[in-house]
Amino acid sequence: MPTDDPIIVIGGGIGGMSTALALAKTGRSVHLVEQAAEFGEVGAGLQVGPNVMRMFDRLGVLDAVTEIAFFPENLILRDAMDGSEVYRLPLDAAFRERFSYPYATIHRADLHAVLTEACRAQPQVRLQTGCKIVSVEQTPDRVHAHTDEGQVLTGTALIGADGVWSGVRGIVLGDGEPRITGHVAYRAVLPMTEVPEHLRSNSVVLWAGPDLHMAHYPLRRGELFNMGAIFHSHRFQRGANVFGDTEELHEHFSGVCEQVDTLLGKIDEWRMWVQRDRDPVDRWSFGRITLLGDAAHPTLQYLAQGAGMAIEDAWTLAERLAQSPDVPTAFHEYEQRRVVRTGRVTLMSRLYGELYHASGVARSVRREMLDGWPVEAARESFSWIYNGI
Ligand SMILES: Cc1cc2nc3c(=O)[nH]c(=O)nc-3n(C[C@H](O)[C@H](O)[C@H](O)COP(=O)(O)OP(=O)(O)OC[C@H]3O[C@@H](n4cnc5c(N)ncnc54)[C@H](O)[C@@H]3O)c2cc1C
Repeated sequence: MPTDDPIIVIGGGIGGMSTALALAKTGRSVHLVEQAAEFGEVGAGLQVGPNVMRMFDRLGVLDAVTEIAFFPENLILRDAMDGSEVYRLPLDAAFRERFSYPYATIHRADLHAVLTEACRAQPQVRLQTGCKIVSVEQTPDRVHAHTDEGQVLTGTALIGADGVWSGVRGIVLGDGEPRITGHVAYRAVLPMTEVPEHLRSNSVVLWAGPDLHMAHYPLRRGELFNMGAIFHSHRFQRGANVFGDTEELHEHFSGVCEQVDTLLGKIDEWRMWVQRDRDPVDRWSFGRITLLGDAAHPTLQYLAQGAGMAIEDAWTLAERLAQSPDVPTAFHEYEQRRVVRTGRVTLMSRLYGELYHASGVARSVRREMLDGWPVEAARESFSWIYNGI
């Protein structure tokens, strides 16, 4: 059972759940609170690199993940305007051998359910929904979190895993709102049977166009088809998992090749996310309070590593706490181990976004750069991510 001196985790997303699990695995008591009435994740897919599969292995959930994941055959980049293939990286035996684990895609709700179930199996984890934290404070040996209903939770340490709009970050770092990027993401999932056969693919396919791209891949053992359409728009500044404006999407994608047009036409109802990120910072731990996942280092999704970084954070944090029982020291060490790696993901994600959304001469440069690039070199260019921690 949880002790009366637990580590408080705020936020029950993928980052918070992974943290609760990692801490429990090292014998810590955890009280995780989530503001939503129920635990869950949005109906969309997630790409998971070998670095993240390694984390699943350490957290003891690799088999459960493997059971419901899909293992794509390639990462393919195509030109969204003329339909031609620009580059193909096989996710084959050589890839698996190089990075020790495969590349997978998984439905977010499936992954979240695996993590939640694993947490529930840990007696020292307490999971609580319908609990919104409005302020946090600390003394030299305690933390206090105040709920919107006037309750006070007390613990030995506090982790803000409360996402891109983190309230904990606002309190301890106070560095304003996340950056407006002018990028929006529309997402939808449909049964594979509804996808015209000639447009199905067992790969992650990214169709790159000027200021836009569309990506798709199978989910849940191939039963589902995940689509994400991203484009530049300043129409909205904030919004997550809200209905998208299908008309605006089609306006931006007018002129794309027939395959992309047909696939986009399969969806009547899109969910939309307005993309925000932050310039990397070199500090997010303050005494007994630290941040994790999007709260610490929100990133654009162009390297498909935001959730992956949150899961790596979780493991690193639990490991540091196991090594250094002094909480402020452990939190400082955790943060210092994560600053450069997560900063690199944030900055490189912006760069990959430019590569995907290139137009004019930049589009031709992209083609020339990637034309004939040896697969071994392409694979190696990702080793800094996929080798993991
Ligand atoms: C379009 C898109 C595609 C993406 N694709 C990928 C991908 O392929 N691979 C990948 O690794 N990543 C991807 N990401 C990034 C990934 O979704 C995020 O990095 C990840 O979900 C962050 O998890 P988190 O737990 O840190 O935050 P969140 O998932 O935002 O969870 C935060 C939780 O905290 C709760 N909360 C907030 N405030 C409070 C409060 N005051 N009190 C209590 N609870 C609170 C929230 O309700 C929420 O449940 C993508 C993101 C987008 C937008």
